[in-house]
Amino acid sequence: MAKIQMTTPLVEMDGDEMTRVIWQKIKDELILPFVDLKTEYYDLGLENREATKDQVTIDSANATKKYGVAVKCATITPNAARVEEYHLSTMWKSPNGTIRSILGGTVFRAPILVKGVEPYVKTWKKPITIARHAYGDVYKAVEIIADQPGKAELVFTGADGTVQKETIHEFKGPGILQGMHNTDDSIENFAHACFRYAIDTKQDLWFGAKDTISKKYDHRFKDIFVDIYEKNYKAAFEALGIEYFYTLIDDAVARVIRSEGGFIWACKNYDGDVMSDMVATAFGSLSMMTSVLVSPEGFYEYEAAHGTVQRHYYEHLKGHETFTNPIATLFAWTGALRKRGELDGNQALSDFADKLEKATIDTVESGFMTKDLAALNTMENITICNTNMFIQKIKEKLF
Ligand code: NAP
Ligand code: MG
Repeated sequence: MAKIQMTTPLVEMDGDEMTRVIWQKIKDELILPFVDLKTEYYDLGLENREATKDQVTIDSANATKKYGVAVKCATITPNAARVEEYHLSTMWKSPNGTIRSILGGTVFRAPILVKGVEPYVKTWKKPITIARHAYGDVYKAVEIIADQPGKAELVFTGADGTVQKETIHEFKGPGILQGMHNTDDSIENFAHACFRYAIDTKQDLWFGAKDTISKKYDHRFKDIFVDIYEKNYKAAFEALGIEYFYTLIDDAVARVIRSEGGFIWACKNYDGDVMSDMVATAFGSLSMMTSVLVSPEGFYEYEAAHGTVQRHYYEHLKGHETFTNPIATLFAWTGALRKRGELDGNQALSDFADKLEKATIDTVESGFMTKDLAALNTMENITICNTNMFIQKIKEKLF
């Protein structure tokens, strides 16, 4: 069988630990035999980030701007323990954070549904896609530890010299404070990305924030969304029979639980971070959650939503059998290959991505799965597979 040709390379961002091991297996077993794979390779493994002083992460993000589509393996975000473990010269920043700050845009996370692995929430029948605003708020906050009594103030000095000032708190004793920000530009891009993605995927869009308490900050998000909706997207939404609505974040949480799924839930940065793990877990497993960063210029970076699965990696290093689920990492590859195919008019490549996803879902639905799915599954007669065996089963279905 002739291999499928590619015209434009994917930006390949390799990573760490168990997902790095799986990354190679997916390429060797499920992609390279079928596709004449072209990638521009960046090694974001922690050793190489240290060796390049993290320049490799910046280079990989810039390459994504050049080519348009990237696929990323999970990477370690260093903490104190990792600094010691990897003898790091400094606690390098989260690669995802660095990439997001270069590309901008919005992260969409959606679960992969398979029959036999039912969501914990009985009413959920369709995927819930979380759109996480990928800029600002607590992730770009500055913080101070007030080590004594004193007065905390919020001061904005305009470029024209105008000063706005608010007292945050008069401390009688020690305490903590935080200053965070966002920009209209970033919120507008977020809103456009959400409305466009809703139209692309023909799903309703929900947005929740806390404007009753945060009458300026969260209210700004609410106003920007509704303005952009009214001006740019209302007609298209009505034509498609889909809906946009805003509600308080706590009401949104309650409605999400009672819903059937099948919509996009736009979340502020922190809400998206937290809620995506809850939604992923409630749909079954973190290992079944996909993630794509869509930039305002239309650049795409696909990855799995989970981390490097450290505990499994240490088992792997001891020579023990591992049952790590490769599905989300595999769907990062198929998402990137399909998008590359779409952008290049390469139907064969997009079709291959569809076929590989179908083979993966068929494998699980015919009873072969890793331990994490076996624990949730409602079918009889299943076979628990280690990672290698599971990948082989998918490969058999590809022919
Ligand atoms: P994790 O890698 O997501 O794994 C947490 C637990 O979830 C695992 O121990 C495992 O549970 C289960 N799990 C996750 N993915 C799985 C899979 N594919 N198959 C089977 N089980 C899976 O999170 P972590 O262990 O807290 O973090 C490890 C490293 O990943 C950290 O250094 C963190 O910085 C990094 N991280 C990276 C990203 C990213 O690059 N996008 C995201 C999050 C975290 P059991 O142990 O019960 O089997
Ligand atoms: Mg998180």
